[in-house]
Amino acid sequence: MSLLDRHRAVMPTWMPVYYGDDALEIVAGSGRRVTDAAGRSYLDFFGGVLTTMVGYDIAEISDAVRAQVGTGVAHTSTLYLIRQQVELAEKIARVSGIPDARVFFTNSGTEANESALLFATNLRRSNQILAIKNGYHGRTFATMAVTGHRSWSSSSLSPLTVHWLASADRLRGRMAGLSDSDLIDAAVDDLREVLATVSAGDVAGLIAEPIQGVGGFVAGPDGLLGAYRKVLAEHGILLIADEVQTGWGRTGDHFWGHQAHGVTPDLITFAKGIGNGFALGGVVGRAEVMNAVPAISFSTFGGNPVSAAAGNAVLDYVLSHDLQGNAKRVGAVLLDGLRALSYDILGEVRGRGLMIGLEFTRPGTGEPDPVATLRVFDLCRAGGLLVGKGGLYGNVIRIGPPLTLTEEEAREGLAILADAIATADAESR
Ligand code: PLP
Repeated sequence: MSLLDRHRAVMPTWMPVYYGDDALEIVAGSGRRVTDAAGRSYLDFFGGVLTTMVGYDIAEISDAVRAQVGTGVAHTSTLYLIRQQVELAEKIARVSGIPDARVFFTNSGTEANESALLFATNLRRSNQILAIKNGYHGRTFATMAVTGHRSWSSSSLSPLTVHWLASADRLRGRMAGLSDSDLIDAAVDDLREVLATVSAGDVAGLIAEPIQGVGGFVAGPDGLLGAYRKVLAEHGILLIADEVQTGWGRTGDHFWGHQAHGVTPDLITFAKGIGNGFALGGVVGRAEVMNAVPAISFSTFGGNPVSAAAGNAVLDYVLSHDLQGNAKRVGAVLLDGLRALSYDILGEVRGRGLMIGLEFTRPGTGEPDPVATLRVFDLCRAGGLLVGKGGLYGNVIRIGPPLTLTEEEAREGLAILADAIATADAESR
């Protein structure tokens, strides 16, 4: 029995696996490349969903984890002091830009958002949350409740009362003749209207991804969160920035995605890249909000010594190698190359740093084209390049490689992408 058949026999049916009957098993990795069980090598432009942020088998990270495991202490419970955890919290508090910040560690982005929602609702004594359509925040009750993406949400089971804001999608805005400032004005009007109609303004918080990840790397105009913030402040509503995909310099221009919006959130949630594959997530935020949980609470594995050792090594690497700068430089090479492509099916190339989305649409109509997208996706794999898929309609190719990607690797991936898009475009006629 193949590994795929065994997987299908034992895993729930709803668990997504890329490439269907030709699913991949990755057995080795180095730098930005992985090898599958059949010995084929791929350039990885998705980094395990933006998780392998520094790259595969990076000596500084592997050595730090081995050293921690070598002490014999993989876990001691948070009832004891954990040096790695305290040091990592100090570093994250420092880079957060939040004065007197506190940090709480979890094992995943879902738990990070669940915790942030817990802190915000407790401080504000309200279970009302504002969320943005097409957003993704996790797979627990509360985080699914604020997920506005039909493939992932089950908000009818929500423990929260969620008020939805429209996603300020710039492609759709442009198609409707709206400028960026028109879009911001419309988004602020939407927020004001939602607050005035479905709440008495006594909402706990707004949760938002600076760039919607699973939703297809959709970003509102720069400044949008800052414009929201002015209205939120009138009501004392907290801002939670979900930086699970956008943090740590990924977007090149800034260390955090929210910095493009000229705003400092009350809470920032993080996961994925900070562990470079080891399970690590958390929340960093204002002490007043972080301290708002009245009961004792801890996470058995959150910030355990091994994950925290990885986190320390990752953050040190990101900062000492200026990976934000690399994301900006190499991201520009990729973006320029992709924007130079002109094909009918390629509706939009968008992105920032090493977070780039290609939206495929039907020529003339702007209708999503998931068929062409799937073809590009499969052709990339056949050409030796792994990319991600996403978007509400499955019509976005997502590019989020390790931030150590070199210019040469960017050009190699670009050539494979260009061939794949050209073929899919020709076949679509
Ligand atoms: N928030 C965002 C923006 C995400 O992209 C994800 C995962 O894709 C999550 C939260 C959930 O993180 P995890 O899968 O680690 O629970």
